Amino acid sequence: MSALMLESLSKTVSYFPSPTNVGLWDGPRGAVLIDSGNDADGGRKLLRAVEASGRSLAAVFLTHSNADHMGGAAFIASRSGASVYASRIESALCADPILEPISVWGGYPPKELRNKFFVAPSCAVEAIAEGGALSAALAGACAVPLPGHFYGQTGLLADGVLFAGDALFGEASLVKHPVFFMYDVAAFLDSLDRIAALGADLVLPSHGVPTEDGAGLCAMNRAVVLRVADSVAAACAGGASFEDVLAAVCADFGIELNWAQYALIGSTVRSYLGYLREAGAVEAEFAAGRLRWRRS
Ligand SMILES: [Zn+2]
Repeated sequence: MSALMLESLSKTVSYFPSPTNVGLWDGPRGAVLIDSGNDADGGRKLLRAVEASGRSLAAVFLTHSNADHMGGAAFIASRSGASVYASRIESALCADPILEPISVWGGYPPKELRNKFFVAPSCAVEAIAEGGALSAALAGACAVPLPGHFYGQTGLLADGVLFAGDALFGEASLVKHPVFFMYDVAAFLDSLDRIAALGADLVLPSHGVPTEDGAGLCAMNRAVVLRVADSVAAACAGGASFEDVLAAVCADFGIELNWAQYALIGSTVRSYLGYLREAGAVEAEFAAGRLRWRRS
């Protein structure tokens, strides 16, 4: 994150455009950052920019615990004294970020996943009560549960602007990374419906630009998810192991594997397989020491 610019979105809402956008809302007790930069250095630049704008920081709201969103939170909290908030399950991951590569890998994570891209500095986070009132620093905003990409990923609606986090992706990001990380496909699609129904004046994805056409961007995200689901289902057609399915999806979307991609795309493919199985589109059986997937 270099040269931080602050772009205004409404009377009390602005954001720092960045590969992972960071929001800024002038709340009742002071400024609220939405997400926190990639790492301590990103956090330092954000805090400096907030203070240079004449604001004092009251709180940080984390959409979820991925390192590109929470990486600067520990630094910002320790320097400013601001409280940090996230949903309950994401707050658990923020406290023990080694859980990120453990859960994505599904076992002891290889050394290639034990780095700052997967394991952010640990940060004490207050869990926001589901459906309950937000703390005084966030009063007037609304936490919108938008799970799917990650376990308890949550958006923040303030002054007509929805900071959606990774509940949906901007158009350029969808073109570049159609097989983005996915934990729960059905929940992701439900979250898209929730965003479209909210009718916010502006929707800001973490990876993309603000749009007045939130419903349109939701439709675009839905189409991409269904295309990936079709690719996964097609890969099962003649009977396939997980590795076969992964290889077919990688060939389909031109993805080259490395340790990080194997973990992230692999976890995502498992999630799509689970979704398709629950929808009755594929089935699976154990035979000769393998789990074989096939189209129903
Ligand atoms: Zn992200």
